[in-house]
Amino acid sequence: MLALNHVLVGAAIGSETNNIPVIVGLAVASHFILDALPHVDQGLEKNGKDYFKQNTKYFLAAVDIAISLVLIVFILTLKSTLDRSSIIIGAVSGLSIDLIFNIPWWENFMKRTPILKSIYFFHKDIQEPLKKYQFVFGLPLQIIIIVVSIWILLK
Ligand SMILES: [Zn+2]
Repeated sequence: MLALNHVLVGAAIGSETNNIPVIVGLAVASHFILDALPHVDQGLEKNGKDYFKQNTKYFLAAVDIAISLVLIVFILTLKSTLDRSSIIIGAVSGLSIDLIFNIPWWENFMKRTPILKSIYFFHKDIQEPLKKYQFVFGLPLQIIIIVVSIWILLK
C-alpha cells in the first residue's frame, strides 16, 4: 500500500496513546493488515506485468514518502496539542516494514537472510490474493483510510 496510508494510520495510532511499545506494535501490525487489503501503489501490475518501470517506481515511492512527510509536519503544525514523538514514532513504525524490506540497497540481503527472509516473503505474499480488486475496492478504500486517519489526527 502507499507510504501515505501506512504513515497516516501509524500516526493516527500514535495520536491515541503515549505508550511507545503499544504504538510500535500496533503500527507494525497495521502495516501487514493494510498490505493485505486490495490497494494501488508503485508496485501496480497489469496483466501480470509491472505497470511502472523500475526507475519510475523509485521516483513515485520518493514522491509518496515526501508527501507523507509534508502532511505529517503540516498536521503537527496545525494541531500543536498532539504528542509529537508519539505521532512520529507511529508514522515511522507504520512505514518501517517497507523501509526494512523494500529498499533496493538492502532488499537482496533481506531476501537471503534467515528469519528476515520469511518476513520478506510473508510481506510480499499477503499482497497477492486480492490484487484483482485493486481499483474497484482498493482505491476507494485507500482514500477512506487517508480521510479517516486525518480525521482521527485532527479531531
Ligand atoms: Zn508493505
